[in-house]
Amino acid sequence: MTDHRTSLTRRPDWPTSTSRPVVTPLQPSVVYASPDPDALDAQYEGGTGFTYAREGHPNATVLAQKIDALEGVDGGIITGSGMSAVGAVFLGVLKAGDHVIGADQLYGRTLRLMTEDLPKFGVQTTLADPTDASAIEAAIRRETRMIVVEVVSNPTIRIADMEGIAKLCAERGILLMVDNTFTTPRGYRRFEHGADIVIHSVTKLLAGHSDATLGYAVAKDPALMEQIYVANTSWGMTPSPFDCWLAERGLQSFDLRYDRAEATASALAEALSGLEGVLQVLHPSRPDHPDHNRVTSVLGDRPGNMMSFEVAGGRAAANALTRAVPDLPFAPTLGDVGTTLSHPASSSHRALTPEARAALGISEGFFRVSVGLEDPDLLIRELTHAIAESQKP
Ligand SMILES: *Cc1c(COP(=O)(O)O)cnc(C)c1O
Repeated sequence: MTDHRTSLTRRPDWPTSTSRPVVTPLQPSVVYASPDPDALDAQYEGGTGFTYAREGHPNATVLAQKIDALEGVDGGIITGSGMSAVGAVFLGVLKAGDHVIGADQLYGRTLRLMTEDLPKFGVQTTLADPTDASAIEAAIRRETRMIVVEVVSNPTIRIADMEGIAKLCAERGILLMVDNTFTTPRGYRRFEHGADIVIHSVTKLLAGHSDATLGYAVAKDPALMEQIYVANTSWGMTPSPFDCWLAERGLQSFDLRYDRAEATASALAEALSGLEGVLQVLHPSRPDHPDHNRVTSVLGDRPGNMMSFEVAGGRAAANALTRAVPDLPFAPTLGDVGTTLSHPASSSHRALTPEARAALGISEGFFRVSVGLEDPDLLIRELTHAIAESQKP
C-alpha cells in the first residue's frame, strides 16, 4: 500500500496502452525530468526532446510543424501572440544603429512598436507606401536592415507591390519581413515571393475560432531563425500549451474555412457593389479594385475573406447600419468562424485625425468585414437590409 500522506505529490506512471490516442494530447508540463545528468547534457548539446516549457513544448512543436507545412518551410516557432512574433523578430534580428522601413498601413500595434518602441532601442524607422516600390526605395538608407510589409492592407485592402519590394530587398541585401496574417499561406506563399521572414497572428484565420491568442515566426536562414528563437525564449514570449492545442484543432479545418469564407466574400462584394448608398466596395475580386493590375501576380486567384465597403451618410449612417445588424458582432478582430464587422474610424484608426484618416480613404461611412462561414445568402440579406436602413433619412 502507498502512504498517501507522502505519495500525493508523486507523479504516477502514465498508464500504458498499445493503442494511441487519435487526438493530439495536451501536455501542460512546465518541466521534463531526465534520467541522469549525462542525458540532460546530451539533450542540451543538440539532442532532441524538451526540458523546460519556456524553451519549447510538444503542443507548440506540433502546431509549428503544421504551419511550416502550409508555408513550405522548416523550423518556425509558435509565440504567445501575433505581436510577440513581431517582437521576437525585431528583438532577435535588429540592433542599435539599424534602420527599418515599414509599410504605412501596417497593423496598428506593429506601427506603434515601430514608431515608439524601436527608437527607444536605437533603431530608426521610416514609414512608406508599399503600393509604390519607388516610395519604399526612396526611404532606403545605408543602415536599412529590414523592410516590413503586409501583403493586403488593413482596412483599405490595398495590395503591396510585393514583386518590386522583394526585388529591392534582394538587390540591396535588405531583409524582407512579411506579416502574412490577412492573406495566410493559402492566399500568398511568401517564401516563393522573396520573403526572408514571415510572421502570422495565429489568433486570426489559422486558429479561426477567436479562442486562442498566438503567433508564428519563421526565417529562411537558420542562423536568423536561431536568433528569433532565442529572443522569443529569453524575453519569455512562449505560448501556452492549451492555446496551441486549441489552435491545432482549429487549423484542421483551415483550408475549408478559408475557401468558403473567400467565396462568400466575393459574392458579398458583388452583391453590395450595386446597392444604393454604397460609395465603394474593396475586395481583390473586384475589377474596380485600385490595385487590380497587381491582384493576379501577388494573390493569384485567392482574393481572401477580408473586404471593406463605404456607405454615404457619415457617422449617422454608420450607427444606423450597425444597429440594423445586431447579429453581426461589431468587434475589432478578424478571421473568426463568424462574420465580424469593424468601423475603423471609431476603433483601429480612432487615434488619427479626420484628415489623416481621409488621406487613407477611411471615412465615417467606412466598414471592414471579416467574412465568416454563415450561409452566404443570409449574410447578403442582412447587410443589404442594414445598408438600406443606413440610407433612410
Ligand atoms: C491581429 C494582428 C496582429 C497581432 O496579432 P495578435 O495575435 O493580436 O497579437 C498582427 N498583424 C496583423 C495583420 C493582425 O491582424
